[in-house]
Amino acid sequence: MKIAVCIKQVPDTESEIKWDTPKGTLKRSDMSPVTNAFDEFAIEEALLTREKYDGTIVAITMGPEKANDVLRNALALTVNEVHRCTDDAFAGSDTYATASVLAAALKKIGDVDVVFCGKQSTDGNTGVVGAEVAAILSWSPLTNVSKVRQIDAANKKIVVERAIEGGIEVIEAKLPAVVSVIKGINEPRLPNLMGIRKAAKAEIPQWNADDLGIDKGKVGAAGSSTKVVEIAVPPPRGAGEILKGEIEDIANIVTDRLIDMKVIK
Ligand SMILES: Cc1cc2nc3c(=O)[nH]c(=O)nc-3n(C[C@H](O)[C@H](O)[C@H](O)COP(=O)(O)OP(=O)(O)OC[C@H]3O[C@@H](n4cnc5c(N)ncnc54)[C@H](O)[C@@H]3O)c2cc1C
Repeated sequence: MKIAVCIKQVPDTESEIKWDTPKGTLKRSDMSPVTNAFDEFAIEEALLTREKYDGTIVAITMGPEKANDVLRNALALTVNEVHRCTDDAFAGSDTYATASVLAAALKKIGDVDVVFCGKQSTDGNTGVVGAEVAAILSWSPLTNVSKVRQIDAANKKIVVERAIEGGIEVIEAKLPAVVSVIKGINEPRLPNLMGIRKAAKAEIPQWNADDLGIDKGKVGAAGSSTKVVEIAVPPPRGAGEILKGEIEDIANIVTDRLIDMKVIK
């Protein structure tokens, strides 16, 4: 079975998020990058699928040189092959342009049965890239997947459970499919020391727009149909207030304030 996994490099949310407010973009170069948390579940699902059905795993990312780190992490986790899609023409790509680059990479890999990606990224947060990739390739889009029940590559069939409000939905779909996984679908493993050492020395192959047969006019800021027109950072919260005194007096003060704020009558 040929398994692919899409991994995005995102700023570590433990570190401070820095915005380029006039441009409406994140200052990615000023922040330490990590693998998108949902993509750790996607990698683990790819590893579990290979363990169950055999096959190979190819991990791809679109991003700058720093994104090699997430591919090295995937290699340390024993993914068979990695590719980074990168080209000056990709800068400023919106979600659809990003998805079209990833779709072109999947086409180039060839004979892919199933693609795993995360439900959403922790920075862009749109949650649409997986479905867009599926739409571009006319593959089955399976979103919000909480369990993969069966993959039958010979008969080109996949059965998954989707998490829906108050329950699950069991879906059977044709392969190839793009499966966007949710948190908790599995327990991502950690790479071992030998894997980390081996991955640290690995060459990361790159694919540019020409390698992928991409029309440069359809990607990047110029080729994107959406544009961030404004970014607003919420004002910092003011200091709180600690009320002192008898408990009844405090309760009365809080009640009066909630009435003033029209929270209670
Ligand atoms: C106008 C505009 C300009 C932008 N300019 C830039 C820019 O210059 N540089 C930049 O880095 N970002 C830029 N972005 C953000 C970038 O388009 C999005 O981060 C990207 O399209 C993915 O969207 P998302 O993060 O919401 O992904 P989601 O849809 O939330 O992600 C879902 C899943 O898709 C997969 N995925 C998403 N993105 C990638 C990726 N790049 N590689 C591999 N897998 C992926 C992952 O598996 C992820 O879990 C821009 C966005 C807009 C709207």
